[in-house]
Amino acid sequence: MGQLYDFAIVGAGAAGLSAAQYGARANLKTLVIEELAPGGQALLIDNLENYPGIVEPINGYDLSDRMRTQAERFGSSFLDASVLKVHRAAGHFVIETSSGPVESLTVLVATGAEHRQLGIPGEQAFVGKGVSYCATCDGPFFKSKRMLVVGGGDAACDEATYLSKLSGQIVMIHRRDRFRAQKALAERVLSNPSIEVRFNTIAKEIRGDTKLRSIVLEDVVNHKVVEEPFEAIFVFIGSIPRTGFLTDTGVQMDETGYIVTDCGMQSSVPGLFAAGDVRSTPFRQLITAAADGAIAAHSAANYIDEQRGQAYR
Ligand code: NAP
Repeated sequence: MGQLYDFAIVGAGAAGLSAAQYGARANLKTLVIEELAPGGQALLIDNLENYPGIVEPINGYDLSDRMRTQAERFGSSFLDASVLKVHRAAGHFVIETSSGPVESLTVLVATGAEHRQLGIPGEQAFVGKGVSYCATCDGPFFKSKRMLVVGGGDAACDEATYLSKLSGQIVMIHRRDRFRAQKALAERVLSNPSIEVRFNTIAKEIRGDTKLRSIVLEDVVNHKVVEEPFEAIFVFIGSIPRTGFLTDTGVQMDETGYIVTDCGMQSSVPGLFAAGDVRSTPFRQLITAAADGAIAAHSAANYIDEQRGQAYR
């Protein structure tokens, strides 16, 4: 057998990095496995302004970089690899990765969620030619152009506000008659002169040639359909949890596919924990993800003590 870790963390977003720091600091032999750069969704945040103690807005990349440095300083290791499968072996877990198997007494799933697609004609064809799921990444390509933002949650409102700094021609559509987003974010959009909000409106089709030229919109109340010129569409309609590699574990998910945990972040499988956006939770923020990670590390340490008959009672 290769080396046996105490705490293997899959995913290096805020939940995974916070867990790595707490785990390593609690003397757990900790490994973080990440297929992309550390940071998760925080990498997409231009100005993070709602993390306690961060008074001057900070870039999500910078905060993630600090979190990784902190976790490394406490002794956490990092592995660049994709996780393919997780299964139980005698008394521990085996994580099959693109760089070979990793063995650990406990596993924390902190893989977050990926963007949901609209599923309308033209969406796939114009990805990279006007269809985007990341305003910070692609917004600057469409400076001063007419852009459409789809969605009614926090992400859509945040990203529309970001895009309004690049162009005075932002149209934002939402399928309902009011935003789902937190009031402060929704009000910022509604009072922004660069954003025209249209409720009860959906996108039906994306059209163009070598690049996106127009979008077909429908008013869901009077069913009026119009085709309007746009250069880009930014889609922020929620996310889908990344759990495909867990099928062999039989872990319990909620009706929308997020992992169900107890208040200690333990899933239905003893020793398998979940934290952050991949977990079934009512509020997904950087701070809640970081808090989940800290709790999960604490629970993993207790779990290991119990397995070794060393629990403090
Ligand atoms: P969300 O809260 O799930 O909102 C998704 C929005 O997309 C909803 O308004 C939903 O409409 C709409 N939608 C879903 N499927 C659709 C479809 N097929 N066509 C058209 N519209 C569709 O997702 P989110 O905004 O990505 O936020 C995810 C989590 O991250 C939330 O917990 C949020 O609080 C957090 N977040 C926080 C911040 C912040 O605090 N600054 C920023 C970003 C994200 P309905 O309302 O009709 O369901």
